[in-house]
Amino acid sequence: MNIDLHVHSAFSDGLLSPEALCALALQQQVNVLALCDHDTTDGLQPMRTIAERINRDGHRLTVISAVELSTGTDGHTHLLGYGVQENCADLQAAMSELRAKRVTREQQMVEALKAQGVQIPAQMLPEAETPGMPIGRPHVARALIRMGVVNTMEQAFDRYLAEGKPGYVPLEHLSAAQAVSILRRAGAVPVLAHPARVGLEPQALEALVGFLQQEGLLGVEVYHPSASRRDTRAFEAMARRRGLLVTGGSDYHGDRGTRARLGGLPSGWRKWREDLAALQTAMQLAQTRPEAV
Ligand code: AMP
Ligand code: MN
Ligand code: MN
Ligand code: MN
Repeated sequence: MNIDLHVHSAFSDGLLSPEALCALALQQQVNVLALCDHDTTDGLQPMRTIAERINRDGHRLTVISAVELSTGTDGHTHLLGYGVQENCADLQAAMSELRAKRVTREQQMVEALKAQGVQIPAQMLPEAETPGMPIGRPHVARALIRMGVVNTMEQAFDRYLAEGKPGYVPLEHLSAAQAVSILRRAGAVPVLAHPARVGLEPQALEALVGFLQQEGLLGVEVYHPSASRRDTRAFEAMARRRGLLVTGGSDYHGDRGTRARLGGLPSGWRKWREDLAALQTAMQLAQTRPEAV
C-alpha cells in the first residue's frame, strides 16, 4: 500500500491522461491518489470514472478530487484544496479568470523568447487545440525541448523560464488568503503546498502559516520532494504543534529527467495512515458543513 496526494494530469501541466495516471498508480501499488491540477477541476470527473471502472475489475484505487492554486505577488505560495466541490460558482469563476490570464501571459512569453531569437511555432503549444486549458511554463519548456533549444525541463527553466530569466513573465494571482477562503467555500480542505518552495525563512513561514490558519488553512504538505530531511522535520513539527493536517505527495507531472516519481514519497512519513484518515475526516466535515471544520 502506498499513497500519493499530489499529482498533475494533462488537464493542466502534467503529461499523462487520468487513465494513464490511474494505470501507473496500480503499477506502483498506489491505492490513494489525489489529482491536483492547476486552476482547473476538469480532470476530476474523468479520473473518478476511470477509478470506478478499475475498481469494478477488483482493484482498490481511491481517487481524491483536488486542485492547486498559485498565490501571492510572486506566485510561490501554492494551496491545495482536497475534496473540492466542482459545482462552486465562485471557484469556477476565479479559475476561469486565472486561465484567461495564463493565455495572455503565454503570448507574452512567446514574444519575450522571440526577442531572444527563439521562435516557438504556434502548433507547438497546446492552447490552439484545447481552449480554456491552464497553460503554463511547462508547456513552453516542453516546446523548447522538442525544438532542440534545450535538453531538459530543468535547463528550460534555468536558461529561459525561471524568475529573472529572459522568457519569464509573471502571472497575476489571487492572494493566499483569498485562495484559502474560496477553497473553503468550495467545500475543500486547504493545505499549504510544498512549503520549501514558498521561499521564506522559518520565522516568516511560521507567521504566514499562522495568518493563513486564521483564514481557514487546515494543513501543510510536509512530505514533498522539494524539502530536505531537515526541512521536512521542521515543517512536520510546526504542523503538528499547530494542529494542522500533515500531507505529502510527489508533485508528479510525467516528465522524464525530473526527480518526481508517482508514489515516490520521501521516506520517513511514519504516520501516513493516521494523517490520511485525518485528512479524509476533515474532507467529510468540509464538504457537509464548510463553516464547521
Ligand atoms: P506556471 O504556473 O505557469 O508559472 O508554472 C509553474 C509550474 O512549472 C509548476 O507547477 C511546475 O510544474 C513547473 N516548474 C516550476 N519550476 C520548475 C523547474 N525548475 N523545473 C521543472 N518544472 C518547473
Ligand atoms: Mn505544475
Ligand atoms: Mn505547486
Ligand atoms: Mn503541483
